[in-house]
Order: sequence, then C-alpha cells, then structure tokens
Amino acid sequence: MFRNKTVLITGSTSGIGRAIAEGFAAQNANIILNGIELIEEVNMILDEMSRKTRGTVVYECANMADSDAIEIMMKRSIERFGSVDVLVNNACIQHVSPIESFPVEKWDIILSLGLSSAFHTIRHALPAMRQKGWGRIINIASAHGLVASVQKSAYVAAKHGVIGLTKVVALETATDNITCNAICPGWVLTPLVQKQIDEKAEKMGISLSEAQYDLLQEKQPSMAFVKPEDLAAFALFLSGDAASQITGSAMTMDGGWVSR
Ligand code: NAD
Repeated sequence: MFRNKTVLITGSTSGIGRAIAEGFAAQNANIILNGIELIEEVNMILDEMSRKTRGTVVYECANMADSDAIEIMMKRSIERFGSVDVLVNNACIQHVSPIESFPVEKWDIILSLGLSSAFHTIRHALPAMRQKGWGRIINIASAHGLVASVQKSAYVAAKHGVIGLTKVVALETATDNITCNAICPGWVLTPLVQKQIDEKAEKMGISLSEAQYDLLQEKQPSMAFVKPEDLAAFALFLSGDAASQITGSAMTMDGGWVSR
C-alpha cells in the first residue's frame, strides 16, 4: 500500500525516527530521512535502508530549528517526489533543569524542534496532500504531551503544544482524506533517554542498570521500555486505510504511564 507513497521523517538518523523510516522502507515507500549529520555520517544508514526496499531513500540534512532550512527541505522533497504523502514530525531533544536555571537557549531550541518545526513542515506539506486528496500526518509527541514531570518545562510545553496543533490540523483537514494524529510514547531506550540514564547514575552515584530501573519505576508501570519497532508499526497502522477515521487523536504507547 505504500509502494508509491513518499514518507518524510524528521530526525530519522537515530532512535524512533530511524525505526519508523525502516518500517516504511520495508513497505517499499520512498523515504526522506532527515537529521543534522553530514551525509558522510549517514551513508551507512542510507545504503542499508536502500538495500532493503524497492523505494528510493534520500537524506536531507536540515536543521529543524530553522524555518528557512525546513522550507528548502520541504520544497526540494515535493519537487522531487510530487508530494510528501506521510509526514512524521519526530525530531526533538530533551533538557532537564529546574525552571529558574533552565537555559534560555535550550527553551528556544526545544520549542522550535518540538513544536514550531511541525507547524512549518505541515504548512508546506498540506497543499500537495490536498491536491492528491490523501495525506497522513503523525506527530511524535510524548506521554509528556499529556502529563508533566518536574524539570522538563520546555519539553512538556512543546509536547502539549504539538498535541494542540494536531487537533487544529485534524479539524482543518477533516473532509480532505488527510488525517493528523499524535503518538505519545513512554520511555523508549534511545540515545535521548540513555543520556538521562547516564546523568541520573552519575548524579545519584548508582549503576546504569539501577538508574534504568529507577527511571522505569518512577513512570512506566509495565517496567519495560517501549520498542522503536512497535512505534513504527503504530505509525504504519495510522497511515493505513483502517485508520482513515482516526484523526485529531493523541494516542499513547507508554506501558501505562498516563493511567496513573
Ligand atoms: P534520538 O536522540 O534517538 O533521535 C533524535 C533525532 O533527531 C536524531 O536523528 C537527531 O539527528 C535528530 N535531531 C536532533 N536535533 C535535530 C535538529 N536540530 N534538526 C533535525 N534533526 C535533529 O531521540 P528519540 O528518543 O528517538 O526521540 C525521537 C522523538 O520521540 C522525539 O520527538 C522525542 O521527544 C520523542 N519521544 C522519545 C521518547 C523516548 O523515551 N526516547 C519518549 C517519548 C517521546
């Protein structure tokens, strides 16, 4: 079903974004990977993904905190493939600090990456989606889009914001065969979370496995990490025909996190 579809995933050189790209590549979609790494650093990923798909795999090095770079990436992608049929807004970073000492530049970049970048990619992708009469937009939010945690002011604000944006886009496209949804993962063991585990272990003077246990114990009742490939399967489902009436939703895959 995705053979002639083009899927753009922001922040897809690592973690969840990469797994989602691999999921769509396995369905022979055309894939536009994105990140801030130089092409030489992602050649291995490109080669590996290209070998496993009948679609075309390309890489767009573009900073998702820069609206001009986003515009160039979106225009080039649409010129090349005709449209971006499935848009996955995934790129984000985390910073943990009390609000009084939260670095202003971290606030700015997390809001740009986690919220504004989705506004920009969506506004550039929609005209071609409307023209084709089909589109899927998936915003990777977080359990932190639905509930808060201390010391994550920028991340929680951005993720709550992107769920609001999801609802507006869903309403504005409701009769156009375009859906817009947010996925809200709990802990997934990616570099973004490993950094938090490393910092916790160092700060508390505990081992990495103790820090990992603590992290899960605090938030994720299942006591297991969400797997990136399960999030990829979720994104594929939301992009399929059976999900045509799911729009404007914020859906969790969080081991019970927000049920507490
Ligand atoms: P990750 O650190 O493994 O990957 C982040 C990706 O974003 C990388 O490809 C990186 O190159 C890219 N990136 C970073 N800065 C960028 C920029 N300025 N412009 C373009 N790309 C940039 O992170 P992850 O854990 O896979 O997170 C992916 C998404 O999932 C994020 O939106 C994150 O908030 C969300 N999320 C993660 C978890 C988790 O537990 N890991 C939980 C909930 C939500």
